[in-house]
Amino acid sequence: MTDFRDRWRLAPAWVKVACLTLAYLAAHVSLDWISFIHEVSPLNVTPWNPPSGLIMGMSLVFGVRAAPLVWLGLMASDLVVRGLPVALWATMTANAVVAAGYGAAGWMLRERLGLDPGLPRLRDVVLLLAGGAGTAMAAGAGYIAIHTMIGLFPWSGFPDALLRYWVGEIIGIAVLTPLVLVGLRGPALRVSWAGAAEVGAQGLLIAFALWLDFGPLGSAQYEHFYLLFLPAVAIAVRHGLPGAALASVITQAGLIVAVQATGVETARMTHFQLLMLTLAVTALLLGTVVSERRRVEAWVRERQSDLAGAARLTEAGEMAAALAHELNQPLSAAMSYARAARKIARLEETSPRLGEILDKTVAQTERADRVIRSLRDFVRKGRSERSPLPVAGLVADCVTLAGPLATRHRVSIAAEVAPGLPPVRGDAVQLQQVILNLVRNAAEAMAEGMAEGIEDPGPRNRRIVLFAHLAGEADAVVIGVRDSGPGLAGVVERNLFAPFVTTKATGMGLGLSIARTLVEGHGGSLTGRRLPHGETVFEFTIPVHGSDAGEAAG
Ligand code: ADP
Repeated sequence: MTDFRDRWRLAPAWVKVACLTLAYLAAHVSLDWISFIHEVSPLNVTPWNPPSGLIMGMSLVFGVRAAPLVWLGLMASDLVVRGLPVALWATMTANAVVAAGYGAAGWMLRERLGLDPGLPRLRDVVLLLAGGAGTAMAAGAGYIAIHTMIGLFPWSGFPDALLRYWVGEIIGIAVLTPLVLVGLRGPALRVSWAGAAEVGAQGLLIAFALWLDFGPLGSAQYEHFYLLFLPAVAIAVRHGLPGAALASVITQAGLIVAVQATGVETARMTHFQLLMLTLAVTALLLGTVVSERRRVEAWVRERQSDLAGAARLTEAGEMAAALAHELNQPLSAAMSYARAARKIARLEETSPRLGEILDKTVAQTERADRVIRSLRDFVRKGRSERSPLPVAGLVADCVTLAGPLATRHRVSIAAEVAPGLPPVRGDAVQLQQVILNLVRNAAEAMAEGMAEGIEDPGPRNRRIVLFAHLAGEADAVVIGVRDSGPGLAGVVERNLFAPFVTTKATGMGLGLSIARTLVEGHGGSLTGRRLPHGETVFEFTIPVHGSDAGEAAG
C-alpha cells in the first residue's frame, strides 16, 4: 500500500493525469450503463441519472477546467452505452452545452456564491441543491432543444422531455454529488471495525425497509416508501453528512434493484424518484445540521480551553504586577534610607566595615528595584498577536462562548452591533477574554441580586446586551456590556479597577484590573458606570485597524 502511494507520488504529472482521466471515464460510463433503464428516448433521459452527480461534483471541485473531461465522459457514454443514436455533430454540440453549463455553474457557485465543496455548512448544501436544480434545468433546456431541432421529439413534447431529464439529473446530483464531494474534499474518515459493523447493520435496515416496500406489503407500490426514511434519518443523526450521503446512495441503489426486480413501469418509476429526492434532501439537510453542530461544539470547547489558559496566565501576570506595585514603595523607601545611612557613615567616618555593609545594602536594594521594574514592564507589554478583527464576528463569538454561562445564571444575552463597523486592531483571544470577563461579572451580579432578593426584574428582563458602535472620533470602536443587575457596590465604585477589590466570597478582585490592562495594551481605555435606570455598563474603546492609535499600540 505504502509502496503504491510512494510510486503514485513520484509518478510524472502526465501519468497521473492519464490515470485520473481513465478512472473518471470508467466511472462515468459504468454509472451511465447501470442507470440506462426506463429511458424515454434513445437519449440519456432516464428517471435516474447518476453521472450528473459525478459531473456536478467534478465541476464544483475543478470549475470550468473539468468541462473538457466531462464532455469526453458524455461522448464516451453515448458511444459505449447507446452506440451514438443521433448525428455525431448533434451529440457533440448537445454534450458541449451540458459540459460547459455544469463547468460554469461549478465556477459560479464556488467563486461567486462562496460554496465550500467540503459542504461544511447548511448554506453550502442548500446552494448545491438549488444550484444543481437550476443548472440541470438550464443545461437540460439546451440539450433537449438541440435534439428537438433535429426532429427527435416534436416541439409539443419539449416540456415533458425536459421535466424527465431534469428529474433524472437533480436526483443524480442530490444523491451522488454529496458523496463525491465528501470523498474528494471532506475531512478524512476513520473507519473502525465497530463503525463498519454499524454501517453493515444500517445497510441491512435499508434492505429490510425495501423488502417491506416491495415484498409482502408492496401491493400499492410506493405507499410504504416512508419506511425508508427511518434508517436514512437514523444514519444522518448518528453520522452527520458523510453518513447521510452514503445512506442516500445505498437507498437509491437498493431502490433501483428492487424496482428492476419487481418490474415497475416508467410512470411509477418517476414517482419513486420524486420520493427518493425528498428522502435524499431530508437526509442531507439533517446530516449537515448534525455535522455543523458537532463542529461548533468542538470549536467552543477548544476556545474555552484557550481562554481558560490565557486567563490563568494573565491572572498570574496581574498578581505579579500587583505585588510589584505594592513592593515598589517600601523598596524605594528602604533604598533611600540605605543611601542616607551610607552617606552619614562616610561623613562621620565610623567603622569602615559599616560603610562596606551599607554599600552592599544599597547595591542589593537597587538590584531588587531593577528586577521589579523589569517584571512590571514584562507584564505590561505581554505577548500578543495583533491582526485586523471584524467587530461583529468578535461579538458573535463572545455571545456563543457565553451561552453556557448565561444558561447557568438564567440570563439572556443579546448583541446590538452597529452595521458597517471597520475592523479593529487587536488580539482576538485577549479581547474575547475582556468581553467575557465583563459578561461574567454582569451575569454573576444579576444572579447575586436575585439571591439577595434585590428587585429581581424577572427572567425576561434579566438581560445582558453586548453592544458595539463607532466612537465619536471614528478612529475607534466602542465595545461594551450592559446589564439590568443591581449596580455597582459603593466600595467597588470608589476603587474601580483596583486589584483585589471584590464583593464576592470567592472572588479575587482581579478581573476588572486585568481587563483594563489588556484594553490599555491595545491602545484603548475601559470605563464602568451606572446608568440613570440602575443599569450597569462597562465599555472600552479599541482603535480601528490602520488608525494612528492602533499602530502605536501594536
Ligand atoms: P471578581 O469578579 O473576582 O470580584 P472583578 O475585578 O471582575 O473581580 O470585579 C470586582 C467587583 O466589581 C465584583 O466583585 C463586583 O462587586 C463588581 N462588579 C463588576 N461588574 C459588575 C456589574 N456588572 N454589576 C455589579 N457589580 C459589578
